[in-house]
Amino acid sequence: MTANISLSQGRAYMAIPGPSVIPDQVLQAMHRPAPNIYAGELVELTHSLVPDLAAVARTSGSTAIYIGNGHAAWEAALANTVAPGEKVLIPATGRFGHGWADIAQGLGIDTEIIDFGKSKPWDADRVAEALRSDKGHEIKAILAVHVDTSSSVKNDITALRAVLDEVGHPALLMADCIASLGCDRFEMDAWGVDVTVTGCQKGLMVPPGMSFVFFNDKAQEKRVTMPLVSRYWDWEPRANPAEYYQHFAGTAPTNHLYGLRCALDMIHGEGMDHVWARHERLARAVWAACEVWGSEGPLKLNVEDLDHRSCAVTALRIGSPLGTALREWTEHNLNLTLGIGLGMAEPGDPSWHGFFRLGHMGHVNGQMILALLGGLEAGMAALDIPRGRGALDAAAAVIAGQ
Ligand SMILES: *Cc1c(COP(=O)(O)O)cnc(C)c1O
Repeated sequence: MTANISLSQGRAYMAIPGPSVIPDQVLQAMHRPAPNIYAGELVELTHSLVPDLAAVARTSGSTAIYIGNGHAAWEAALANTVAPGEKVLIPATGRFGHGWADIAQGLGIDTEIIDFGKSKPWDADRVAEALRSDKGHEIKAILAVHVDTSSSVKNDITALRAVLDEVGHPALLMADCIASLGCDRFEMDAWGVDVTVTGCQKGLMVPPGMSFVFFNDKAQEKRVTMPLVSRYWDWEPRANPAEYYQHFAGTAPTNHLYGLRCALDMIHGEGMDHVWARHERLARAVWAACEVWGSEGPLKLNVEDLDHRSCAVTALRIGSPLGTALREWTEHNLNLTLGIGLGMAEPGDPSWHGFFRLGHMGHVNGQMILALLGGLEAGMAALDIPRGRGALDAAAAVIAGQ
């Protein structure tokens, strides 16, 4: 046995599900003095961002930009469409549905939550039942999390559209694509989504600080019936500004805009179909390794059904305290940071230490994923965690296209 030495020098790797790895090009694009915010390059650049953002969301609808994180986009979407005392329906498949519901409650909105647990997708039939029993159309919107980042469940948005149409219910369909946009296939218009919310720090590869709300004409029709919309959250001047500052209800997030321009160039240079195919291939490599490890040990993928696993994030169960032990080992010894388990157990509960997550969203490639999986193999070896052998071979075969 050789003495244990830390191998953490060299470039750090944050393999957490947001913020994601920031490309060097994005960082370099942001590293500049403050530009003129009244005229010239920044104004032109901002105008160029809007169609390119909408192209990532696959919509011809309107785009509102907020200086804020995902929670800001959650609040913005609701502030424009659902009045206090009105009701929303939330099919929750992990922690994030509850998070959006909590924001709604803070705005005085009534919430009806259908909880599908922590590792299963929603059941559209149960959503249909709730809509059918809402004879008076009190439900004004469904708040649907496409990829729940805590459970790594990917939900079928089109199933909710089908249910709304079948029941003939007029509620808006709102999708949270904060984790999925630019990772898992999402097509706002084709899928019949009325409002989409996202942030810039996951698939869009920019440091946290901007979020986006895309909305169609149907959502705008509801907006104009609102008794009151806060000036700050109002999406109208942001989407159709008479003056440049109205894009942001104040000073522009200057350097973030340069970073976003660079990231969108990378995404559209690669092409959306390739971006989705890359994420899928890399995710399959992660799952292949995890299945081999789990064949003879405690590691388990949280989501069984392949069709409902996100290509952006993978939630894992390994039993307490091994989740925390593994995260600490890879961070201290390899400078490889894994995601904490989220929403699977209360933080004070000892079982909290039995979960972790892998982020594989945005600026990731084959060698990074193999390094991530190799780091996990080393961590499990160091901690003597029982596991099936051949996980890295299985992942490499997927990467190799075999
Ligand atoms: C990250 C995330 C959020 C919250 O975003 P913040 O930027 O942390 O506010 C909400 N929903 C989903 C699905 C997410 O992945």
